[in-house]
Amino acid sequence: MTAAVLKRSDAGPALFRVDIGHDVYAAVTDPNTAFWALVDKTRIAEELAGGPLLDAYRAKADSFARELHALRFELKPSGVYLNPTERCNLNCTYCYLPDTQRSGGSHMPQKMLLDSLRRLRSYFRSVMPDGRKPRAIFHGAEPLMNKAAVFVAIDEFANDFAFGLQTNGTLLDDAAVEFLTARNVSIGLSLDGPVAGITNATRRTWGGKSVHNKVLAAMDRLKGYGSWSVITTCTTENLPYLTNIVELFHEREVPTCMLNTVRCTLPGARSVKPADGDMAKAFFAAIDRTHSLYRETGRKLIVANFANILLAILAPTARRLMCDISPCGGGRAFFALAADGSLYPCSEFIGLPRFNGGKLFDDSVECGVEAALASSAFRAVTERDADRFSPCGECAIRHFCGSPCPAEAHEMNGGMEKVGAFCDFYKEQVSYALRLIADRNADNYLWDGWDEATETVFDVAAYPPAHRPESLCL
Ligand code: SF4
Ligand code: SF4
Repeated sequence: MTAAVLKRSDAGPALFRVDIGHDVYAAVTDPNTAFWALVDKTRIAEELAGGPLLDAYRAKADSFARELHALRFELKPSGVYLNPTERCNLNCTYCYLPDTQRSGGSHMPQKMLLDSLRRLRSYFRSVMPDGRKPRAIFHGAEPLMNKAAVFVAIDEFANDFAFGLQTNGTLLDDAAVEFLTARNVSIGLSLDGPVAGITNATRRTWGGKSVHNKVLAAMDRLKGYGSWSVITTCTTENLPYLTNIVELFHEREVPTCMLNTVRCTLPGARSVKPADGDMAKAFFAAIDRTHSLYRETGRKLIVANFANILLAILAPTARRLMCDISPCGGGRAFFALAADGSLYPCSEFIGLPRFNGGKLFDDSVECGVEAALASSAFRAVTERDADRFSPCGECAIRHFCGSPCPAEAHEMNGGMEKVGAFCDFYKEQVSYALRLIADRNADNYLWDGWDEATETVFDVAAYPPAHRPESLCL
């Protein structure tokens, strides 16, 4: 991808060319509003110089800017990541939690977990519309190490939260699956390889034992359930096998997976960080394979992190806010509760004490959540603004990429106003997504019905045909 140097025109908002490697189309975008269009490359100079597209865009630019600002800076959280224990039965190479916590840490006592959910329920009721349940995801270390407390909490608060569980899958026996699926809890597993030898390179027990077959057994138990997914963390160890991994997932009827770049927040993770170009090549090969599997079988395997980038482009304000916007969802769309009762913007920060926003139970403040949201620890994350630092501030796709991740940028590259670990990969990913859109192929990579709740706010069909860009902007 190449993009022009971005300067605002005196005549008002301007559009900039972004080459996406497509034979016919290039993108034009205003990075300040996340507006974009695909334009025949032979007409691009004329479209950028002025005319109906630019005029129509300028008429709408202020309202797009207001919408994007509201999405970036005016949200109230609607979800929480709950860490019911510090302990984990595995010692994965790239974990974002310090190994001393995972090997010898504490469980959150059951009473504290229940009291926490009571307090969180009150907070969410004060900021969310009636009838909408906040999401509460039990999350790492390994939440099923404290299974009894987690299951009591799920039953006691079934009417108040939409629960999810992110687990390494090793403790997910028949009884646990029966309990969770009967209560419609969404379940996420982790698996890094198509065979044990590859998974073992990054995910194994403290004693070095393989867990690959245990995760496969958990996948078998979940087959047919509607709400489960598997995360693969992409590292130097499994990159050549990503295509085999999506084949395994498809064969085992996994509905949704994530092929996440390894988060380089802690040094252990950086030891298995792939080069951006290698990551792009393997990732696109795996995405292509999901598409050919869909063509062969009629059944989709959604790669959710890529689907979210497509959504960030197709419907910027309808995306599910996680990492793909700056500031990211951490501390804005959700926050994390650590096992000791401390609040952090995202679980990614739990090993970094300076990002502790205070305790949920703090008698010196009226609401521990509000105090955390206003704390300097949270504001360091929620005020990170990719418009204001280089290279993201000059980047034409910054509100599709999202400039992740603040934890990674801070720890790996020395500050919040630094780029994260995979900038060149993210650029390639946005180009790839725009090429799919140019070829009118994006729906095949998205959940069926993804656009049912979206609204078209800029309709290119309104242009005279001679000046009409060849694709759409939402
Ligand atoms: S990380 Fe790279 S691709 Fe993403 S917004 Fe920043 S400069 Fe652009
Ligand atoms: S970008 Fe990093 S801190 Fe933000 S939501 Fe993603 S993992 Fe969490």
